[in-house]
Amino acid sequence: MEQVIVIGAGPCGLSAAIALQREGLSPLLIEKSCIVNAIYLYPTYLQFFSTPELLEIGGYPFTTPHEKPYRQEALVYYREVARREQLRIRSYEEVVSIERLETGFTVHTEDQFGKKAAYNTRNVIVATGYFDHPNLLGIPGEELPKTTHYYKEAHPYAGAKVAIIGGNNSAVDAAMDLLRVGAEVTVVYRGKDFSANIKPWVRPIFESMVKKGRIQMWFDSQVERIDEHTITVRKATEHVTLDNDFVLALTGFRPDRGLLTSIGVQFHEETNAPLVQPDTMETNIPGLYVAGVVASSKYDANEIFIETGRMHGLAITKHIVSRTNLQSN
Ligand code: FAD
Repeated sequence: MEQVIVIGAGPCGLSAAIALQREGLSPLLIEKSCIVNAIYLYPTYLQFFSTPELLEIGGYPFTTPHEKPYRQEALVYYREVARREQLRIRSYEEVVSIERLETGFTVHTEDQFGKKAAYNTRNVIVATGYFDHPNLLGIPGEELPKTTHYYKEAHPYAGAKVAIIGGNNSAVDAAMDLLRVGAEVTVVYRGKDFSANIKPWVRPIFESMVKKGRIQMWFDSQVERIDEHTITVRKATEHVTLDNDFVLALTGFRPDRGLLTSIGVQFHEETNAPLVQPDTMETNIPGLYVAGVVASSKYDANEIFIETGRMHGLAITKHIVSRTNLQSN
């Protein structure tokens, strides 16, 4: 019987596992892909908006010559921390269900070759993030191969007509990148003005590119349908069809609650965030905890991010340790 299983080896799952390990517990991490898979899937040359010390876990210094680190540096940092801590990680194994027992849980998994396994544990920490579940547009053509919710880098779009849907940092960063490879960029955004969330050091340059007409920015607009060579946009009260080669739908992500719902976790009626004790992150099911962005509300998945979610593991560890001590006394 395991003491604790952590599902998801993102920054918040890793942080929780380190905190537990420092208290003499030996958590098992189960990760369906590689460690910090969300960061691996970020745009290749992404620069974080956070300063490095706010991304640190386990007290390991995150050193970089830059004011804000780049994706590549974060990959090195988190995998090196995991290695130094000798965390027990089962990568490329997906948790498919959690079963409640009289004492504890059985965690059922399946690996990439379809091999099934089951682990019994007293406690489970669900730290599954949100990156697998983009906010879908629900419009015709979203399934076409020219449409993606994940932007990696500009090269494939050189010289192409690209529509970017969204107006926050991901959309703005992609638009600036695409400009450099000679793409014709149209940003289609529901908002009526530039988003207040745009990184302050990027915003003036982006605004200037829009003013100069090098990037077309369509406010108060929504893409209605995507076809092979065109898109149709509702722009204020008009419906406009424009030539188009690719669509980058950079509309954010939302946590998947499948595992939590199936075991009976309750959610806040209005926000749809899992109902937890804020000082322990325990759900209504004793021994089942949430850590990181999976604990956020349905409407604002950005309310929890690495800076804040990395702290959840400390609260959870304190609770598990106090309960374990009580049981053994
Ligand atoms: P994740 O990092 O999403 O990790 C969850 C892990 O769980 C994944 O590795 C996934 O593969 C695994 N998993 C999921 N389901 C299962 C399953 N069933 N079984 C096993 N494993 C599973 N935040 C900041 O603080 N600062 C920034 O500067 C910043 N920049 C960002 C830039 C971009 C482009 C994006 C998209 C996000 C940014 N964020 C930033 C947000 C940050 O990436 C997330 O808040 C963070 O990844 C949340 O960490 P997490 O551990 O909760 O989840």
